Amino acid sequence: MDLFHDSPMFNGVRQMLGAFAKQSIRPIATKHDLEESMPWDLMKMAQGFGLTQTAVLDGRKKLTGQDEDPDPKKPKSQSRISVVGSEELAYGCAGICLALGGSGLAASPVSRMGTTEQKEEFRKLLAGLDEKGHIKVAAMALSEPSTGSDISGLSTSARKDGDHWIIRGSKQWITNGQSAAVFVVWAQTEPAAGRAGVRGFIVARGTPGLIPGKKETKLGIRASETAQVHFEDVRVHTDMMLGAGSQGGLSDTKKMLDSTRPVVAAQAVGIARAAYDYLLDRVRGGTTRGTPLASHQHIMFELAEMNMEITASRLLAHRAAWLADHHQENVAEASMAKAHAARTAQHVTTRAMVLLGEEALQPGHPVEKWYRDAKIYDIFEGTGQIQRRIIAKHLTGTNPV
Ligand SMILES: Cc1cc2nc3c(=O)[nH]c(=O)nc-3n(C[C@H](O)[C@H](O)[C@H](O)COP(=O)(O)OP(=O)(O)OC[C@H]3O[C@@H](n4cnc5c(N)ncnc54)[C@H](O)[C@@H]3O)c2cc1C
Repeated sequence: MDLFHDSPMFNGVRQMLGAFAKQSIRPIATKHDLEESMPWDLMKMAQGFGLTQTAVLDGRKKLTGQDEDPDPKKPKSQSRISVVGSEELAYGCAGICLALGGSGLAASPVSRMGTTEQKEEFRKLLAGLDEKGHIKVAAMALSEPSTGSDISGLSTSARKDGDHWIIRGSKQWITNGQSAAVFVVWAQTEPAAGRAGVRGFIVARGTPGLIPGKKETKLGIRASETAQVHFEDVRVHTDMMLGAGSQGGLSDTKKMLDSTRPVVAAQAVGIARAAYDYLLDRVRGGTTRGTPLASHQHIMFELAEMNMEITASRLLAHRAAWLADHHQENVAEASMAKAHAARTAQHVTTRAMVLLGEEALQPGHPVEKWYRDAKIYDIFEGTGQIQRRIIAKHLTGTNPV
C-alpha cells in the first residue's frame, strides 16, 4: 500500500527500478558488501537509463519520459519519484542505492542555491569518465571530526583573498569522499556571524590542497564509499560560492535536508521490506516438526507487526515527499519519516535475525547484511535524537534543552 499507487508515472518508476533491483542489484550486493567496493560498472549502466549523478539538477525526464511543469508554482514530482525509486533500489541493496544516488547530496544545494553558471560548472565537472574509466561522482562535505549534528560549530574556515576564498579544514564521513570529481564543501566565512556565515563552495578534484583522505571501514552500506577529505589552503574563486546575500547560509543548508530525509526514510523502508519478504517467503510453505510455520501465532504476529510498521513508515515518507513536491513546509514530517523508518528498519532486521536463528549469523547471509545496513539510518542525515528534537521544536516552538 502506498499513497501514489494510482499514478502511472510513479508506478512506472516503481516497476522499472524494482525489476532493476531484483535482476541487477541483488545478485552483486553480497560481493560489493564483502569487498567494500563501489559498483562502478552498474553505476555506468544505470546512468544510461536515467539514474544520473546530476538527476537532482536535471530532473527525471530520462527515467520517467515526462518533463516537469516549468511553472515554478505548480506541484513537482521529483521528491515522490525519489522516494518511490529509492525504496526499490534499497530493496536490492542500500549500499548500492547510495552509490547510485550519493552525488545527489552535493547536487541538492547546487540545485537550490546555485546560479546558472555554477550549475553548468557542476555538470561539466561530472561529465565523461575519469582516468579509471569510472563515471564521475560528487561529494557533499559538511561533517567534521568534531562537528556532526551541530553544524553551527564548523571549524573549516574560508578566508577572503582578493577574488578567491582560501579554505582550510578537514571533513569526515563524506560519501564519495575519496573518488569524487567535485565537492560541495561547507565552511565558515565570517565567524562573528555564526550560523549565517556558513557557506557552500563548489571545488573541483585536483585543486591544489584538496586531499582525499582515509576511506572508512563501515558496519553497513559498504558498497558506498565514505572517507575523510582535507582542505589545506584550497583557493576557490568567489564565483564558486553558493548563494548570495542572506541566502546560502546554514538555514538553507538545513532546508536541503528536508528534501533528502524522506528519500533516506524510503531507503530504510526498502531494507525493512527486504528482510520482511525474506521471512514471509520462508514461512509460506515452511514447516517445523510437521506443523506449517504459518500456523504459529508467535511467528505470524511478528510478521503482522512488521507489515504494519513498514506500511506506516512508507506512508510517512510519502507524505513528507508530497508536501515537498507541493511547495509546503515539511520539516517535522521529514523528520518523522526519517526517525520512524530508521526504527522500523532496525526493528524488522533485528527480529528477522532472531527468528532465523544461527543461519542468519553467517557473513554473506542477506538478513545479516540488512541488519548491518539498517543501523546507519539512525545516524546519518541527522541522528534519531536530532529528528526527535526537530519534531519536539515543531510542537512547542522551542528547542528542548
Ligand atoms: C556512512 C555515513 C555517510 C555519511 N555521509 C556524509 C556526507 O556525505 N556528508 C556529510 O557532511 N556527512 C556525512 N555523514 C556524517 C553524518 O551526517 C553524521 O555522522 C551525523 O550527522 C551525526 O554526527 P556525529 O557522528 O558527529 O555525531 P554527534 O553529533 O557527535 O552525536 C553523537 C551523539 O549525540 C547525540 N546528540 C548530539 N547532539 C544532540 C542534541 N542536541 N540533543 C540530543 N542528542 C544529541 C546524537 O544523536 C548522537 O547519538 C555520514 C555519516 C556516515 C556514518
